[in-house]
Parts: sequence; structure tokens; C-alpha cells
Amino acid sequence: MNLTGKTALVTGSTSGIGLAYAKALAGQGANVVINGFGDAAAIEAERQGLEALSGARALYSGHDLTKVDEIEAMMKAAADAFGGIDVLVNNAGVQHVAPVEEFPVDKWNLIIALNLTSAFHTTRLAVPYMKQKKWGRIIQTASAHSLVASPFKSAYVTAKHGLAGFTKTIALELATFGVTANCISPGYVWTPLVENQIPDTMKARNMTREQVINDVLLAGQPTKQFVTAEQVAQVALFLCSDAAAQITGANISVDGGWTAG
Ligand code: NAD
Repeated sequence: MNLTGKTALVTGSTSGIGLAYAKALAGQGANVVINGFGDAAAIEAERQGLEALSGARALYSGHDLTKVDEIEAMMKAAADAFGGIDVLVNNAGVQHVAPVEEFPVDKWNLIIALNLTSAFHTTRLAVPYMKQKKWGRIIQTASAHSLVASPFKSAYVTAKHGLAGFTKTIALELATFGVTANCISPGYVWTPLVENQIPDTMKARNMTREQVINDVLLAGQPTKQFVTAEQVAQVALFLCSDAAAQITGANISVDGGWTAG
């Protein structure tokens, strides 16, 4: 696939699945905008590595996507640099694990703002460029939790179910403009997001680390293996191809069979 001349913006791409998307898209020649937090020197090294993959440009945005004005600034910076966005990957997300009656209000607000509302803002700001070009790809990292629930993840499951509904809606709105919108729904992928929820899950369920990995994380994943970030990124590349032009409004599971049961 050749994405030369196209621009992809991937939210939450300084780490994990987002970074894998950025590498896959840059590897096909796209300019990429990466976003997220982390060590400045490490991010700069990743940015340069992305440019080295194909010679296309890579821009870093450190904007905080829980804030509307920062999302607007990121989208403006991308449009100023590249004249618009062709592939929008809404991927930034955080998790918090707690029983609903103890769920911290600030964590609820953070998860809804980042995992759900930021995708509305990036989409509304990217769509005019896509409509103009009669081509676009909107890809959400949803989750198996956009299809089924798990206890103690009320905010996350709510946000991901919302993201799935949002995606179906915009798929219908954009269907005649050459713009597709789809969810990719991974099961457990071994990334910092998963690693960081182990201590809270140990506390919430009174389990050891090994019990959380085997009896909670991989319990529902019939293959008994973690998904890799690269496997998720390859699905996104396929969605960018002409072969996927008629796939829109779909929610594609990459979950080792989790949601089949
Ligand atoms: P990760 O923690 O490795 O990456 C999250 C990224 O989001 C990082 O780049 C981080 O800096 C960025 N980020 C965090 N807060 C931000 C903010 N306020 N503004 C901008 N960027 C911010 O996590 P991951 O596992 O790669 O998760 C990526 C996406 O995949 C999330 O939406 C997550 O819900 C989803 N997902 C992950 C799994 C999994 O098992 N890891 C499974 C299903 C879905």
C-alpha cells in the first residue's frame, strides 16, 4: 500500500498501540502526527525514527486531549503543516479500575473526556478536509469493552461503548464522501496501559499479580495469548487500503476470540 502524500494523525501515539500505528502508517509513506506524553528525548528519537522509515515527515504534538482548546491547537498545527488530515486514528485512552461506589469522580471525567469526547473533537475538525478530498479514514481504537463489559471498569466500558456508537453514526453521515469510519476492538494487548492496571486489579479483586494476568486478563481470551500492538496496527493499514473502501461502521475484533463466547 502506498500512503505517500497522505497525512495520518494518531492520538496517544508515544507508546503502545498508538506508536505501532504510527510506525505502520509512516512505513507506508504517510506523514504522521504523533501525540501523547512522555520523556522528551525518547519522543524525539521516535519522531526521527518515523521520518527515517520512509522519508515522509513526522510531527510531534504534546497536546493534552482532555482539553478542547488543546485538541483544536493540535488539529490546527497538523493542518498548517500538512494541509489537512487524511487518516485520523483516535487511540488515546486511559483506564481506571475501581468499584462503582468508590470510583473517583475525577477519573470518571478524565476517561470520558479522553477515551470518548476527544474523538468527537478530532473528528469534527478532520472531517471537512476529508470531505473536500472525497477520501478519508477514521479509525478508532475501541476495545472488546466496546462490545462487552467487565466489572470495576464502569467509565472505560461506558466510553468505549459510546465510541462504538459514535463511529456507526459518523460512518452513516460520511458514507457518500469516500470516508470510512470503523472501530478496531482489541482484547488484551501487552502495553503500559495493561501493566499499570494490574496493581489496582490486585487490590479490587484481592489477587496476586500472576492471578490477575492468568485469571483476569487472559481468562476471557480463548487463545490465552496477548494480542500484539503490531497485529492491531496491521488491521488499521488494511482499513486504509482500497480493498477496505466498503468497510464502514464496522467494529473489528482483534481479541483472540474473547467476544465470541
Ligand atoms: P498506552 O498507555 O501504552 O498509551 C496511551 C497513549 O495515550 C500514550 O501515548 C499516552 O501518552 C497518551 N495519553 C494519555 N493521556 C493523554 C492525554 N490526556 N492527551 C493525549 N495523549 C494522552 O496504552 P495502549 O494500551 O497502547 O492504549 C491505546 C488505546 O488502546 C487506548 O484507547 C486503550 O483503551 C485501547 N486498548 C488497549 C488495550 C490493551 O490491552 N492495551 C485493549 C483494548 C483497547
